[in-house]
Amino acid sequence: MKKIISAVFIAIAVTAYSQDRTENIIIITTDGFRWQEVFKGMDSAIANNPKFNQEDSIYLFNKYWSNDVNQRRKKLMPFLWSVVEAKGQLYGNRIYGNKVDNANPYWFSYPGYNEIMTGYADTAVNSNDYPPNPNMNVLEFLNKQTKLKGRVAAFGAWEAFDRILNEKRSGFPVISAFDSCGGKNPTANEKLINAMLKDSYRPFDDHECLDVFTHYEAMEYLNTKNPKVLYIAYGETDEWAHAGQYRSYLDAGHQVDAWLSKLWKFIQTDSRYKNKTTIFITTDHGRGDKKKEEWMNHNNKIEDAHEIWFAVMGPGIKAKGELKTDMQIYQQQFAQTIAKLPGYTFKADHPIADDIMYLFK
Ligand SMILES: [Zn+2]
Repeated sequence: MKKIISAVFIAIAVTAYSQDRTENIIIITTDGFRWQEVFKGMDSAIANNPKFNQEDSIYLFNKYWSNDVNQRRKKLMPFLWSVVEAKGQLYGNRIYGNKVDNANPYWFSYPGYNEIMTGYADTAVNSNDYPPNPNMNVLEFLNKQTKLKGRVAAFGAWEAFDRILNEKRSGFPVISAFDSCGGKNPTANEKLINAMLKDSYRPFDDHECLDVFTHYEAMEYLNTKNPKVLYIAYGETDEWAHAGQYRSYLDAGHQVDAWLSKLWKFIQTDSRYKNKTTIFITTDHGRGDKKKEEWMNHNNKIEDAHEIWFAVMGPGIKAKGELKTDMQIYQQQFAQTIAKLPGYTFKADHPIADDIMYLFK
């Protein structure tokens, strides 16, 4: 009898341990994707505007429209509004006063990614052309920890990630834009990705590749190199919005959601990741909403472009779904949260905002 009891006790203890602990963390960003679409789905006024609908409002309404807001947002982001809603947490629906914002005063990309990754809304970081980031980022910090050393990697569609994450100093691979992947010994898949990337259509010139390449590079790395900390940064949502192409903007967001679903399926069917991996999904900045054309743009002259959102799901994160309570969270709180999830405390030579772990319980 004693033996049975202790066996049962061990089984419970092992289960509790594996369900409560983040050992791996995957951070995903999709550039400039608005909370308005995440929580309210397609905007019918923008979709009806011939300036923005790429002459295909029928496609847009067939694919993404419902009069019911819950159905509508689920058509656009089916993974967020099924699996993440059921098992994770979604923040930033301002209809309920649930506010997530940039703390930096600029509301564009480099300052936003700096804020996410360093926990410091450094006002000196004021340009997308800013040189290699002097601030230490949380990925760099995690890569210095004994258990995580050499197990950190970042993949970004935009070339600026080499500077934002200070690739030269930080000591982990940052594969951005048209960088080839796989290093000196690429796998067969990496060779194919590199060849296709080289010959691919470049709608954003040389500074940004299409998201599909970044996604497949990251997935191949996840499968073959088994990183414990991975960052994937998609860029098309922002590019198509600047171009005023609402159909492409929504399709890009919808595709990111489909990739999140595939990523989660991979995580939950691979013993190296299953039940010990947390995903953290967010964006670098918001966009306008008040005036007709402002959805295309973002900077501190565009009202509301500081409004962002995030979602989180993984072991030990309580299934709260959409948060409907009044609160204020800042983007600068993400870095310390990313460190705390696997149990570390991020320290650097600059101020770091407090984590929000208390919200996840
Ligand atoms: Zn932009």
